[in-house]
Amino acid sequence: MKEYILNTLPQELVNQIAAGEVIERPASVVKELIDNSIDAKATKIQIRIENGGIDLIEISDNGVGIPQESLNDIFKSHTTSKISSLEDLNSLLTMGFRGEALSTILSVSQVELISKYVGSETASKITFRSFNDFDITKAARESGTVVSVKGLFEKIPARRKFLKTPQTEYKKILDILFPYFLIYPNIHFSVIKDSKQVIELPKVLNSNPNTVEIERVKKVLKDEYIDRMIKVFYDGNGIKISGFTAHPSDHQKRYSNQYIFVNSRPIWDSGIAKAVLTGYERYIPFGEKVPYILLIDINPDQIDINVHPRKEEIRFLNPFRIYSSISEAIQRAVSTVTTYRVDSEFKTPSLNPINDYNSHQSIGKTYSSRDITFKANQSSSVKDSLLFSQEVLNDTGYIKSTDSVIFEEGYKKIRNIFQIFNKYIVIEFEDQTLWLIDQHAAAERITFEKLLNSKEVKLEQQNFLVPISLQYSLNEMTKFENLKEFFSDLGFKYSINKSEINIESVPVEFVNVDLKALFDEVFALGDESRDISKELNKLKDDILATISCHTSIRSGQSLHREEMIDIYSKLIKCENPYSCPHGRPIVWKLTLSEIDSKFDRTY
Ligand code: ADP
Ligand code: MG
Repeated sequence: MKEYILNTLPQELVNQIAAGEVIERPASVVKELIDNSIDAKATKIQIRIENGGIDLIEISDNGVGIPQESLNDIFKSHTTSKISSLEDLNSLLTMGFRGEALSTILSVSQVELISKYVGSETASKITFRSFNDFDITKAARESGTVVSVKGLFEKIPARRKFLKTPQTEYKKILDILFPYFLIYPNIHFSVIKDSKQVIELPKVLNSNPNTVEIERVKKVLKDEYIDRMIKVFYDGNGIKISGFTAHPSDHQKRYSNQYIFVNSRPIWDSGIAKAVLTGYERYIPFGEKVPYILLIDINPDQIDINVHPRKEEIRFLNPFRIYSSISEAIQRAVSTVTTYRVDSEFKTPSLNPINDYNSHQSIGKTYSSRDITFKANQSSSVKDSLLFSQEVLNDTGYIKSTDSVIFEEGYKKIRNIFQIFNKYIVIEFEDQTLWLIDQHAAAERITFEKLLNSKEVKLEQQNFLVPISLQYSLNEMTKFENLKEFFSDLGFKYSINKSEINIESVPVEFVNVDLKALFDEVFALGDESRDISKELNKLKDDILATISCHTSIRSGQSLHREEMIDIYSKLIKCENPYSCPHGRPIVWKLTLSEIDSKFDRTY
């Protein structure tokens, strides 16, 4: 029989095995070293990368440094200066201090570290001949720490094989770095790639760690949508959310430029990503995504950060609370930008385009305020000017704006407006843009918003000579109980007799509607949403969307010029002219230069 031998693996090998999880590629080394520099309170961090980090990664900081007598110990596994007592243990563990980064990095590369501790006169350097054999010597350094990592995975060809090209590895390093750039505006970062300085981000004056400063964001992401981003702010349920999210017009197909931070650490969580999109519901087309930078601060005992070896994912103790807070924060921010658009942006275009949610909170409930002000001001002189505009429009073939509420491009003159395929409205504007409008989607959006405001704005009524009587099962009638107030608010007058609804009068919008089909559909809606937590409000929105669909101009219907102008002018006054209540897009905007480039035309 073969002899039974138990081997205890040498520490270096143990670390190498563990390294496979913590240190997967050059980018993971960068992440661990940057974390350490930030923990050491650095305000300046320089990153040098050679050959995609495979040959060299060198991180230099101006943090508090490491005392000479600890230089060896910090490379031992499970050694950390960040846990001083067992009481700290829990909260520090949740922040991911595991004291194993340096030891694992050492086990898979050649490491050299120079540091000057704040409390000492001189700097020291530690170099390793092998895992357990090191030298500590005096060195010259003014402050902070520099760690250089050479020949990553040289000793472990099996892992080295998995590295991609230097360009790809460099790209992955940038992916790791960008989030740090975004939420540490107080840190001066620079990146030197193959001896060339490629990124230089001076610190933003008076900025704090774990905040988003637009000045920094612009330098990092360099996209024009950043100017339009909306500030997010939320504080409740033990969760603080801040950051910026895209204007609804800046929706995109791809998942890109979505940044999520929990307690200052960049993470990815698909539940959070979904919650953000829930906040955009009815503001952007279904299936589209948006860019955002979200900072979530939550008591560390509410999360577990150690579910992922590289701390890229976390687990929430109570995910539902987080997700619903996020949806609410986003929804509030996005709904405010539409108020903002109407009330300030277009009257004073010079205002800072970053929309501060807080400072506009006082504007109050959006839909009603605008209508009321407009009515109050609608003196005869306003009517006169409306008539005058109409005449100019007819005379010149141009449409002029009839009040100050103009959408997005401001004062837009129409050169041509016509219909194609009995389905789309085409508008050529004088500013060399062209809009294709889905007539049904636009009409739906207009009706939807009108109905949404029906409580404040009384709709015209139509009485039936003989009440319309609809029969339903008792089950359905129970469901109707929840919707009674809603239909009354909408302007429906009816009485109920056991399982019969007798409709006496409806808003004129509903006169030509097949009410039986409408109620059927409304009840069916309730059936589909088995999710009990689905709020009544959401159900009401769904119902309004359904009603809007029933009552609106359909596709296939031919339109008069006046009807087209009416749709356009009502659409641009909508709170959300970007998507129909079902989330389909309404407008496709093209510029002359886009059309020109399609034809390779440069003049
Ligand atoms: P952890 O960060 O989880 O404590 P590491 O292995 O990453 O574990 O680091 C071990 C220790 O080394 C840290 O706790 C810290 O005391 C020290 N250290 C590492 N990098 C730096 C740095 N750039 N500046 C100051 N101290 C550092
Ligand atoms: Mg660390």
